[in-house]
Amino acid sequence: MSVQVVSAAAAAKVPEVELKDLSPSEAQPQLALSTAAVSAMAPAAGGGDPEAPAPAGERPPAPGPGSGPAAAALSPAAGKVPQASAMKRSDPHHQHQRHRDGGEALVSPDGTVTEAPRTVKKIQFADQKQEFNKRPTKIGRRSLSRSISQSSTDSYSSAASYTDSSDDETSPRDKQQKNSKGSGDFCVKNIKQAEFGRREIEIAEQEMPALMALRKRAQGEKPLAGAKIVGCTHITAQTAVLMETLGALGAQCRWAACNIYSTLNEVAAALAESGFPVFAWKGESEDDFWWCIDRCVNVEGWQPNMILDDGGDLTHWIYKKYPNMFKKIKGIVEESVTGVHRLYQLSKAGKLCVPAMNVNDSVTKQKFDNLYCCRESILDGLKRTTDMMFGGKQVVVCGYGEVGKGCCAALKAMGSIVYVTEIDPICALQACMDGFRLVKLNEVIRQVDIVITCTGNKNVVTREHLDRMKNSCIVCNMGHSNTEIDVASLRTPELTWERVRSQVDHVIWPDGKRIVLLAEGRLLNLSCSTVPTFVLSITATTQALALIELYNAPEGRYKQDVYLLPKKMDEYVASLHLPTFDAHLTELTDEQAKYLGLNKNGPFKPNYYRY
Ligand code: NAD
Repeated sequence: MSVQVVSAAAAAKVPEVELKDLSPSEAQPQLALSTAAVSAMAPAAGGGDPEAPAPAGERPPAPGPGSGPAAAALSPAAGKVPQASAMKRSDPHHQHQRHRDGGEALVSPDGTVTEAPRTVKKIQFADQKQEFNKRPTKIGRRSLSRSISQSSTDSYSSAASYTDSSDDETSPRDKQQKNSKGSGDFCVKNIKQAEFGRREIEIAEQEMPALMALRKRAQGEKPLAGAKIVGCTHITAQTAVLMETLGALGAQCRWAACNIYSTLNEVAAALAESGFPVFAWKGESEDDFWWCIDRCVNVEGWQPNMILDDGGDLTHWIYKKYPNMFKKIKGIVEESVTGVHRLYQLSKAGKLCVPAMNVNDSVTKQKFDNLYCCRESILDGLKRTTDMMFGGKQVVVCGYGEVGKGCCAALKAMGSIVYVTEIDPICALQACMDGFRLVKLNEVIRQVDIVITCTGNKNVVTREHLDRMKNSCIVCNMGHSNTEIDVASLRTPELTWERVRSQVDHVIWPDGKRIVLLAEGRLLNLSCSTVPTFVLSITATTQALALIELYNAPEGRYKQDVYLLPKKMDEYVASLHLPTFDAHLTELTDEQAKYLGLNKNGPFKPNYYRY
């Protein structure tokens, strides 16, 4: 599970970091749950019994509740918020998940998001490349054949840019630009696109209610006052909403892109116009990529004290170039599978010198990404690529885990006849109870109109299956990277490939039979559709709370290790999204709380609860 991130030339000079799978026990330190963030932001926290029941051994000695002065200011009752229980991530599913997640998300020059196959065993960094090219005048398409970022499947970029002007090929590094306040502390494609970007940000705000709620609550004292956050993420409208929320909470931010393709230029311009030092544009070269990161951290009179990373490149850059900066850094919040993996490796090697939060494995993120996001985006991806009608179509979904359940539910609702394949009797029984026919792939392969893989496994659809499919059968993958369908087996001389649309190939057999292969077997939704902003809202809110938590946690609460988010924070992230639906949450009575042994304000479930 890794990607190559630098050019061969750079690679020759740089050390390599081996990516090894860690067993859950190795990978997961115990989490001392401190909830400065929740305490800070909770709307109506009450006192009470501080801990929800958790199995013995899952709770290390719990530190005192978070009580950063800025944090406490946001809620009158903040100081009384019960401290969440400590958690050790022991769920093997989580660990497994990290291995299985796919490659990095790439946004191609035409704006479509694809996922790079993960074939390389080592990550390589441009460690020694401190001298940047002096003359990167035209970016054109040079150096863009390979992504250098570590963004992964769980790190979504959303829409394509609407205002890209391909006629302006001058590198942003060669332009002198200033925003309307006269500041030139940024580097974006074209500051004049700011107004258009602002509209994109406003659209995203509509679907990011939790961040907007945090802003409102931060009108008094600011929980991130004094925080100097350096960020490296996809620069999209959703990220802009996050950054502006962090700003509203009191933080100063400097930002670079974690992926050379995914920046929305107009959004970057809007951020620069509103005073955020942003260094990013779509189509950066490798050299630009590291230069932008360096411009964020190598600033006179400004030193970051928090890191928000997506893929680990920023963290790595600071480690290699400015290790002394870590003396002032209070914590790292990491979003992606890849970045989290890197942090666990650092931790294992005893080289992690500040606490880090693993946002990727938080409950809400996992649930929303896997089940709800896929439930929506399977239809979107199929529709955009094939214009197909779903009613009455016979579909086989391989794997009835979270992703499979989402796909099946969506297709069933559209009137498709859905078959499921499973290896696990529990999931198989769930499929049966949900009204799906459980079959072996062989039994239905000749008759189905669509085959969808969602297993996280490899070679689920083999050449033999592909040979037996009927004419016009659509084949796609919603699961792991590009391993689930044996696409390589279709690259044989007797078969003809015809690219009929972007991301749509017809593979034609000698007798004229053709199958419709989507996204060359990579993740359909990441390749061919956008990710709902609401899903990104959950991740962004989790990131914001993780930053607040680490920033406000008293000295010593978090050690130099990787932590999962407290369940209480997950609950809080969810609760911030409820008002969107005018949802009314029932409150436990005192009697009920006592009966269940719960604190009235949560956490409401033990850490082993599966949801
Ligand atoms: P999961 O473990 O809940 O479900 C996978 C299911 O597939 C399991 O029930 C397993 O028993 C079954 N399975 C394994 N091998 C099989 C086989 N040969 N035939 C039939 N069934 C088989 O995992 P999940 O959360 O559903 O995720 C599945 C994959 O999707 C993972 O690789 C994950 O990284 C990826 N994912 C994709 C997206 C996306 O946006 N497309 C989002 C989240 C996760």
